[in-house]
Amino acid sequence: MEKIFGLPSTVLEQMTHQFCPGCGHGIVDSLLMHELEEMGVKENTAIVWPVGCSPMAGSVSTINQVSAAHGRAAAVATGLKRSSKDTFVICYQGDGDLAAIGTAETIHAANRGENITVIFGNNSIYGMTGGQMAPTTMLGQLSTTTQSGRNSEQHGNPIRMAEIIAGLEAPKFVARYSVHDAKHVMQTKQGIKKALEVNKNGGYSFIEVVTMCPTGWKMTPEQSVKKIVEENLKVFPLGVLKEVD
Ligand code: SF4
Repeated sequence: MEKIFGLPSTVLEQMTHQFCPGCGHGIVDSLLMHELEEMGVKENTAIVWPVGCSPMAGSVSTINQVSAAHGRAAAVATGLKRSSKDTFVICYQGDGDLAAIGTAETIHAANRGENITVIFGNNSIYGMTGGQMAPTTMLGQLSTTTQSGRNSEQHGNPIRMAEIIAGLEAPKFVARYSVHDAKHVMQTKQGIKKALEVNKNGGYSFIEVVTMCPTGWKMTPEQSVKKIVEENLKVFPLGVLKEVD
């Protein structure tokens, strides 16, 4: 059997994908697939992909998957998990999807402590639809809808979803990671593993991953990594925000 990144090609089926060069989503998707393979739960797993760039790994994966309408992944995941309790249910969502269109579904699923894992790729812009401002866009950041830069008076401040989720009673593990360099990629891998273990033991877990969108930011991949370090991580600090044994 062909191997991809040392794994049997049962989860990641082929090397070609649709992500732009330097995109962070592919790294996160790959880490997730690795962990599912290593935990031996892939046969029992269903990933809920909503709309956006984040689900594009679905086209190169043979994992069980369900498509949700834009923003509705947490609601679909709730129904899926409640009707199929032995299925390991994961949402993978971008920031326009999770923090804008799907804010209500996201918050209420977390508040109910649904037995799901939510992985949130935060690249501070709407990537797939052409680079519009997202709730996570930095102050001063240029986008197609903030051509003079985001300002707090007109557009509000960047929203910190991990801090909001961590403030709720029910979630058992909430953390923020980044994939801008190898060290942080490995930390993200550990975080995803922890989130999946919490899920396996019966709890809600939420992982926010700060990622690069060179296309939406109109930058090179190298410039995107620099932006993450110099700007995004100052607004979205990394670390575990909540952990309940
Ligand atoms: S538009 Fe941005 S988020 Fe979408 S695939 Fe390209 S780099 Fe990734």
